[in-house]
Amino acid sequence: MSLSGKTAIITGSNSGIGLGVARELAKAGANVVLNSFTDRDEDHALAEEISKETDTKARYIKADMSKGDECRALVEQAGACDILVNNAGIQHVSPIDQFPVEKWDAIIAINMNSAFHTTAAALPMMRSAGWGRVINIASAHGLTASPYKAAYVAAKHGVVGMTKTVALETAQEPITCNAICPGYVLTPLVEAQIPDTMKEYNMSREDVVKNILLERQPSKEFATVEQLGGTAIFLCSDAAAQITGTTISVDGGWTAL
Ligand code: NAD
Repeated sequence: MSLSGKTAIITGSNSGIGLGVARELAKAGANVVLNSFTDRDEDHALAEEISKETDTKARYIKADMSKGDECRALVEQAGACDILVNNAGIQHVSPIDQFPVEKWDAIIAINMNSAFHTTAAALPMMRSAGWGRVINIASAHGLTASPYKAAYVAAKHGVVGMTKTVALETAQEPITCNAICPGYVLTPLVEAQIPDTMKEYNMSREDVVKNILLERQPSKEFATVEQLGGTAIFLCSDAAAQITGTTISVDGGWTAL
């Protein structure tokens, strides 16, 4: 399907899932807006690379998704928003009675509150364009829990709840709002955990991947950023026009257990 002429904003997209989804949306013809809180040459270079590869207009806009006014400014600065992918996210793992307050606040702000601010700013643009797609990158942890991830699990469940409410508020308009719930995806964030875990458990890389990281993922395979991008493109298609207010799991069977 062609997304030619559509503008897609993907929050937190200078690496990992956000970057992968942005690439797939650009390949489908969308003009993408990349984002993170940094403003480095390589951030802008990523946008240039995508523009060249896909013959679309890609831009990088710096905005810190932990700050509500910057979330709204990102959308305003983009000037148009037909597809909004709320992806920015961080993680911290700790028992709840030792969970650092500043980590709790940052996770709730970046992983959940940012989606409130960007969606609030983007909906008027979608309404005036007469079409829109809000795609929230939640997680299997938006549907299930794990110990030591209280803030992440709370934020992701919150995003799933907000997804349903936005869908109801836009139900009679040509706008949909859904959440994609990935299981483990081998992004730089996850890759970085492998060497330490190998040392901690004295295990091979293969055993760490299968028995620790993918313990709850029955397929024993990572989901890929391309698969998540493909799911986002499906949600933008006419076939998905009546799919709203729901979650799509891309988790190798995690939530079937
Ligand atoms: P990642 O660390 O590669 O990407 C996170 C992105 O968010 C980066 O581009 C980073 O720069 C950006 N970011 C962080 N703080 C920000 C801030 N304050 N303002 C703007 N941008 C900010 O991680 P990822 O694995 O690609 O995760 C992306 C999303 O997917 C997250 O919401 C994460 O919770 C979700 N997710 C990841 C997995 C996985 O296994 N990797 C599984 C389920 C859900």
